[in-house]
Amino acid sequence: MGHEPEASAHDPLTALLDGVRLRLRDLNDGEPASYIPELGRVDPRLFGLSLCTLDGQVYGSGDRAVRFTAQSVSKPFVFALALADHGLENVLARVGAEPSGEAFNSIRLEPGTGRPPNPMVNAGAIVTSSLVAGDTQKARFDRILDGLSAFAGRPLTVDEAVYASECATGDRNRALAYLMHNAGSLTGDVEAELAVYFRQCSVLVTCDDLAVMHATLAGGGINPVTGERVVASRHAQHVLAVMATCGMYDASGQWMLRVGMPAKSGVSGGIGVALPSQFGIGVFSPPLEEKGNSVRGIAACHLISDQFGLHLMRATAPERRPLPPRSLHPAPLRSLRHRTRAQRAALDARAERIRVHVLQGDLDFATAEQTLRAALELPDAVGWFVLDLTRVGRIEPVAADLLRGLAAELRTRDLRMVLADPDERQAMTRTADEFPDLGRALEACEDELLTGIGLDPDIPVPLADCDLFGEADPGLRAALAEAFDTLDLAAGESVAPPQTVPLDRIVLWYVESGRLAVCADAADTVTTRRTWSAGPGAALTPADFPPRRTRKVVAERDTRCRTLTAAGFRRLREREPDAVAFLERAPLEGAETVDRGDVT
Ligand code: GLU
Repeated sequence: MGHEPEASAHDPLTALLDGVRLRLRDLNDGEPASYIPELGRVDPRLFGLSLCTLDGQVYGSGDRAVRFTAQSVSKPFVFALALADHGLENVLARVGAEPSGEAFNSIRLEPGTGRPPNPMVNAGAIVTSSLVAGDTQKARFDRILDGLSAFAGRPLTVDEAVYASECATGDRNRALAYLMHNAGSLTGDVEAELAVYFRQCSVLVTCDDLAVMHATLAGGGINPVTGERVVASRHAQHVLAVMATCGMYDASGQWMLRVGMPAKSGVSGGIGVALPSQFGIGVFSPPLEEKGNSVRGIAACHLISDQFGLHLMRATAPERRPLPPRSLHPAPLRSLRHRTRAQRAALDARAERIRVHVLQGDLDFATAEQTLRAALELPDAVGWFVLDLTRVGRIEPVAADLLRGLAAELRTRDLRMVLADPDERQAMTRTADEFPDLGRALEACEDELLTGIGLDPDIPVPLADCDLFGEADPGLRAALAEAFDTLDLAAGESVAPPQTVPLDRIVLWYVESGRLAVCADAADTVTTRRTWSAGPGAALTPADFPPRRTRKVVAERDTRCRTLTAAGFRRLREREPDAVAFLERAPLEGAETVDRGDVT
């Protein structure tokens, strides 16, 4: 074990932890605890520092692997086990949740009930360890040791010498326990309860263990290294809350003020810190200040919190807020559905009716509230509010709730909320229609708009009536239509890619009924990204077919196509030279796709 920081680090985070230790190397105040004689034998120069991320990466510096007894650092975890066994209310009936403002071994109990002030001081911890499920003293301790091991992600053991030393000298704890027994807050055999508590304090851990244990709390009860759920997320939250207010003995207020992260210290010199949703830290340095906290441990946590702006109460600087939502107006977006001339004209004339709002980053309270405000201020003309969640990471529960409420409110205003969300987050689907991408969401809105004005885009359009033939009279139209073959596709069938054989080559596909779409050549055509689609009235040329083999044109419904081959086109030109003029310019126009602005 080295007492000096290593000269070089392998990565920036390790370098940072080394740097913290290096800066505190000359801080030699305090003395190791000696009221438990065995603890006084420790080498005061030991100094370790570890950090565990929520994906289970453990970084460490110095004496990170040296084992020491957990002492009071075990208390939050045993509190968690008691919560898991009895629930919050039942545990609170036996032990309070108020900072005592007194020393860890304070003898004051709540007047009347005899309840100890909180689970982080000795009296409270003796009660919580007595609450852990188990019929016998051994069964209870086994559950505690297994529980602590699950938090650490490896089997932990007990330092029997420290245990014996605590047992022999723990008269103050004994006095506390008897007082509580007398007051009714500690039931059962007092000596047996104390033995469980002393053993729990004598469990051996390292800085790395403390980092993983606290990362488990920070991550909502799931051990980031083993992936095991150790306690329910709400119990992890309860524990962190009590650590934040009571974890640092009678220095808890100062700690919250200056460091601002839930933490627990122990008289052996360990401190565990958990920053919710971020990481866990373990520090070990035996010399203590007068309140029983590790001197270098406190200083290290101050440095880390200060240097990296980790205080829980700090307001996120405005420039670090997620990008605000963007409302795209005037709406430049159109789906990639092939539209007939009449449909395009109708949509162009009503561009303001469909409004798209693009969200990015994590969807938290603030972003949801901004979205809400934007939606509620939409002009009356807007009939569809499309929320693009394609670039959204996490959706906080509060944001999901607000958006669900928004969908309901918009419905009462005759405004429909539609989501584009590749992750199909179930939380949102209950009140808003959801599509796997923006193209399909827009297409659904356009279809509804068109249907509402009598231009139902799914009504079959016979070839003889199509846009392609422009001003041609009925006789000419019939002659043109005759040159086409019929191709029926069942839903799910794909269209053969254009062949290269010159004369059999199809040069024009016309959709009479049903729907075609381009999607990835995978079994799951629903969720794979789709580009254009084509319904009745659409005409496609070989140029519309995807060049890549990984994508194909599929019939999304039973579809009837009319196709014109190169040979058919040649025959037609010979027979009806006038007619061909229509065909030569029409397909491009009819098959045109619309620019989707900057969010394709
Ligand atoms: N086992 C120690 C005691 O009860 C724990 C105290 C502490 O770490 O705060 O005295």
